[in-house]
Amino acid sequence: RTGAVVVLGTATPDIASFFRAKNAGRIITLPERIGTGGLAQVRIVDMKEEIKNGNKSIFSRSLKKGLIDTFEEGKQAILLINRRGFSTYGQCSNCGYTPKCKRCDIPLILHKTENKLRCHYCNYEIQAYDLCPSCFNATLRYFGMGTQRVEELFRKEFPGISVLRMDSDIMAKKHAHIHALESFSSGETSVLIGTQMIAKGLDVPNVTLVGVLSADSLFNIPDFRGTERGFQLLTQVAGRAGRGDFRGRVYFQTYEPEFFAVNHAKEQDYPSFYCYEIQSRNEYSYPPFSDIIRFIISSKAEIKGIKFASDVAYRLKALMEERGISERLEILGPSRCIIQRIKEEYRFQILIKNTLGENGHFLVNNFVKQVSVPQDVKFLIDVDPSDML
Ligand SMILES: [Zn+2]
Ligand SMILES: [Zn+2]
Repeated sequence: RTGAVVVLGTATPDIASFFRAKNAGRIITLPERIGTGGLAQVRIVDMKEEIKNGNKSIFSRSLKKGLIDTFEEGKQAILLINRRGFSTYGQCSNCGYTPKCKRCDIPLILHKTENKLRCHYCNYEIQAYDLCPSCFNATLRYFGMGTQRVEELFRKEFPGISVLRMDSDIMAKKHAHIHALESFSSGETSVLIGTQMIAKGLDVPNVTLVGVLSADSLFNIPDFRGTERGFQLLTQVAGRAGRGDFRGRVYFQTYEPEFFAVNHAKEQDYPSFYCYEIQSRNEYSYPPFSDIIRFIISSKAEIKGIKFASDVAYRLKALMEERGISERLEILGPSRCIIQRIKEEYRFQILIKNTLGENGHFLVNNFVKQVSVPQDVKFLIDVDPSDML
C-alpha cells in the first residue's frame, strides 16, 4: 500500500459515486466556473405549445429563429438527437405523459408487431394505448427518430445550408470521423447533426448554437440511469455553445418542460438534481441502494434460450423465497433484451436487485456454480452493468 490519493473530477458526477463520496465526507467543490466565457443562454422550449400553435415541424419556432440568426452571423450550429433506433417509447403530445412501468420506473417500449408496450426489466406488458391514459386524447405518439430523418427534414426547412450528419452508420467508414470533424472545424459545414457522440469533447469556437431536438428522448431510455444520463448529456451540451467570445444559444425542446432534470440541467445545478434523483433511486431500490446483477442468456435457438432463462429465473426465485429474502434479492424477468438479437442469437435477461451486499453476491455466485448450461446456449453474468441493451 502506497497511500496514494485518487481524485475524481467532473461537473456531473455519477449518482452512486457521489453518494458514497458524500457519505464519506470526501467532497471538494469548485463552485466557480473556470475561464472567462459566461454560461450559454439556455431556453427550454415547450413542444406542446408548438403543436397548439399549428407548428408540427420538429423545429420549434424559437429554434428555427435561433438557427437563422446563427447562420446570418456566420456562425455554426449543432443539432443533437438520441442514439438511433434501439427503442421506441410513447409520449403524449398534449400533456407530456410517458407510459412507464409502475414497478421499475422505466419507460415501456413499443413492440410494433404485437402492438404491445413492454417493460424490459420485469417483462410487464400491456396493449399499446390508442388514447393517452392521462388526458384521454388521441395524442399519444411513439418516438424514435433517426439522424437520417432529421437531416432530410433540416434540408427541407433550410435549403442551401450545408449540413453534415455524424452517427455510427457514417462513422463506421474509415477516416470518416476525421473528415467530418475537419470539415466542420474549418467552417465548411454550417450544421452538424448527430447523436451523443458529438456532445463530448468537440470544441469549435465558432459553434454558437446547440439544439437538442427532443430532450425527452435522452431521458426515456429503458435504463434506471436514464434520468442521470440525460442530465449529464444536457449539461455537457449546454457547455458546447459559446466557447469562444460569443455567447451561445442552447435549446432544449421537450414535451415535459417542468421535468426537474431538464430544469436543473438548464441551470447547471448538479446538487439540486442529485437531491431529487437520489430519492427516486431509494424508492425503487436502484444503486447506490442496491447492486444490479444482470444475467444475459443468448442462443440461436430461440425456444431453448427462453426455456433456459425461465428455468434459471424460476429456480433463483424459489431459492430466495425459501430463504425468506426475496425482498432483499429481487429477481426481475426473464425478459427480452432491448437489442433482441445479435448475430442471429436471441437475447434474454434476468435482473437481480441485490440489497444484501457481499452476502447477496455470495449467494448468487453459489447458485451460478450449480447451473448447467445447455450446449447451444450462452450464459453471461454482468455485475454493475454499464448499459442494459
Ligand atoms: Zn417493470
Ligand atoms: Zn395526454
